[in-house]
Amino acid sequence: MTPSTAPERKPSGTDPRPDLLSLIPAEVEAALAGHFERRKQPGYRADQVATWLYESGVTSFAEMTNLPLEERTALAEAFRLEAPEAETISRSSDGTVKHLWRMGDGELVESVLIPTSDRLTLCISSQAGCAMGCTFCATGWGGFGRQLTAGEITAQFRNSRRWAEENDYGPINNVVFMGMGEPLANRKAVHPTLTILNQGFGLGARRITVSTVGVVPGIRELAARPEQFGLALSLHSPDAELRSELIPLEKRHPLPELIDAIEEFVQAGGRRVTFEYTMIRGINDAESLAPALAALARRVHAFVNLIPFNPIPYQDWKPSVPARVEYFRRTLDEAGVSVAVREPRGRDIDAACGQLRANALVQIEGPDTVGSRPRARATVASPTGDGAGATG
Ligand code: SAH
Ligand code: SF4
Repeated sequence: MTPSTAPERKPSGTDPRPDLLSLIPAEVEAALAGHFERRKQPGYRADQVATWLYESGVTSFAEMTNLPLEERTALAEAFRLEAPEAETISRSSDGTVKHLWRMGDGELVESVLIPTSDRLTLCISSQAGCAMGCTFCATGWGGFGRQLTAGEITAQFRNSRRWAEENDYGPINNVVFMGMGEPLANRKAVHPTLTILNQGFGLGARRITVSTVGVVPGIRELAARPEQFGLALSLHSPDAELRSELIPLEKRHPLPELIDAIEEFVQAGGRRVTFEYTMIRGINDAESLAPALAALARRVHAFVNLIPFNPIPYQDWKPSVPARVEYFRRTLDEAGVSVAVREPRGRDIDAACGQLRANALVQIEGPDTVGSRPRARATVASPTGDGAGATG
């Protein structure tokens, strides 16, 4: 049998072979050491595979050409290598590139490469869909598909890195968990992914940011980790009542509890937290909210990103007018809060959270099917929040 005939692609749930990309580097080392020892191969074979895994973009063991053919075959029989295929690649006029990845079972998730003058940021997805049901978010409206494995999250980085190298985008400097899904509702996969990106792929912890809508137990777990991963909180309102209308999870983890957890995170490692504030016209941009936002940000020394709302297909909300965004910026600035206004990137390719998948579903299933999907809100009670780590 040649290496290429080994079954390297099956829906992950039905494949008994461990996925090397789902394991943290110490586990990869141990698994490979045991494998090669049983095959009476020299110890350096494990290092050869690890080098292919972390330093190259090869998607099959067959391509690991410095290993003997029979060893490549044996590897493919013992292990698999998560390698989602790009369903579509959309390139914006501003250089933003969106990949829609098709997983082994057909699930679609997206990742976005965002080049700026001095760096390349990759935005990755942690779940197929999202169960949180935030009213302003296309992913929320699409509902929950399933948890991604660590390998499926890591593969977005690995495959995007390869694409970026091949297309002269240079190295990826930052990774943000701001694609589809709530990363802290998939902690079983996200914790190892953080370790793999950091220890395997050598990305500094400070260059990796987890964005959460407020899963308090997850924030506390992140605070307890020794590495200095970044944290972004999708705040969107300093007022608990308004926030709960935008973000159903607010009812479960109300703002006071959330801000306590953020304080714990900041104190644990001296790391700065970012507040994300999507500004929606007439919804969360009342002038009176700006000083309240400033007070919350000052309390935890947060940096604030003001992001004009990116309209989504399911409701008619609009971004705040520029003068109101500027009012918020000035109020925060004058209160001594570090603040930036973020221009939405990749608008022409629907690079807002969840939109490409939503559009792909429209194409695959027809607009009526998507429009009549039950609101994600209805599923919020299930696989989220506290016990979330156990649902993957
Ligand atoms: N679930 C996590 C991470 C993914 S969402 C979270 O919510 O933090 C990434 C960011 O995109 C979040 O800050 C989210 O609030 C924001 N977002 C979602 N829909 C948006 C829209 N239509 N316009 C602008 N920002 C949006
Ligand atoms: Fe999920 Fe984040 Fe969208 Fe809310 S904003 S529905 S948590 S992806």
